[in-house]
Amino acid sequence: EHGERSRLIEAHKAAAEFYASLLSEAEAAPGRQFLSERGFERVDAEHFGVGYAPAEWDRLARHLLARGFSANELIKGGLAREGRRGPVDRFRGRLVWPIRDITSEVIGFGARKLLDSDDGPKYLNTPDSPIYKKSSVLYGIDLAKREISKRSQAVVVEGYTDVMACHLAGVPTAVATCGTSFGEEHIKVLRRLLLDQAEFRGEVVFTFDGDSAGQKAALRAFADEQKFVTQTFVAVQPDGLDPCDLRVKQGDGAVRDLIASREPLFAFAIRSVISRYELTSNEGRLAALDAAAPLVAGIKDEALRDRYAVDLDRWLGFLDEQLVRRRVHEVSGRSS
Ligand code: ATP
Ligand code: MN
Ligand code: MN
Ligand code: MN
Repeated sequence: EHGERSRLIEAHKAAAEFYASLLSEAEAAPGRQFLSERGFERVDAEHFGVGYAPAEWDRLARHLLARGFSANELIKGGLAREGRRGPVDRFRGRLVWPIRDITSEVIGFGARKLLDSDDGPKYLNTPDSPIYKKSSVLYGIDLAKREISKRSQAVVVEGYTDVMACHLAGVPTAVATCGTSFGEEHIKVLRRLLLDQAEFRGEVVFTFDGDSAGQKAALRAFADEQKFVTQTFVAVQPDGLDPCDLRVKQGDGAVRDLIASREPLFAFAIRSVISRYELTSNEGRLAALDAAAPLVAGIKDEALRDRYAVDLDRWLGFLDEQLVRRRVHEVSGRSS
């Protein structure tokens, strides 16, 4: 219902202002220290609207109730939970990032705990609500949308700090999913920005941590969408640093270089499989060929499949191009 939507959006706007104003208070010192360790200055925090949720039961709730919002509205929007003596804040003693939709309205928050000894998971997010659907939310989309269309490139990173680091480093096309893996609904949002005369022409670049679980999900999401496969890229730092850590350790240029070093999704996937084998022996190379051939055979476009057969041979250390082609052909014949 329209009235409810706009009320929840107003409540989030007020909450974002409340959190942001608290970031300069004494109690937010651990939050400011976290930001500074991640290479962010005060103006950066202001630009992204980063704030601090106080470590008390209901400071935000009391603030919003005093401004005419109802307990029911706070609970519906996910800003608070029902408590015995009234609404209890969802985010407490955490650094908070306002999550905005594509029209720049605040619809939710991502919140990081500041001490390992604190309760709860490292990151907490707004739950699904009438204005927040985690399956389609992309953090940073409000800031990135124009550049994504202009550059025909979207960069998908894992976290809030990674989006900040990319934008500050000169990669203004970065967005992140919020506490969920990349899926169909996220693809739809990006596809709309990347359409060029009704054709999907842009590229989507994924970056992942070394420890990433998001990696597999992204590979799956795009492997299903064969027609986009040539437009999907992966950029992984060899030592597994995420863009935020990379910027702290090596500076803005390293972040831009990381994105520039992207490789096609299939090349990444095939090389990941091969890397598990010992390629110094012929047996090892043949075993790697057996493992990788089904991936190449799964490429539906014939010319592209052929090109990857040649690449595969090269990645196997020039095993035997004819043998590789034959193997890929056998495997694809079997599966179709
Ligand atoms: P930081 O730099 O904050 O120490 P990190 O880079 O290790 O953390 P990751 O663990 O890589 O952060 O998480 C990246 C993103 O994944 C976060 O921004 C958040 O959206 C999501 N995330 C991580 N941990 C959780 C969690 N326990 N619950 C929900 N979402 C999470
Ligand atoms: Mn991680
Ligand atoms: Mn990370
Ligand atoms: Mn990090």
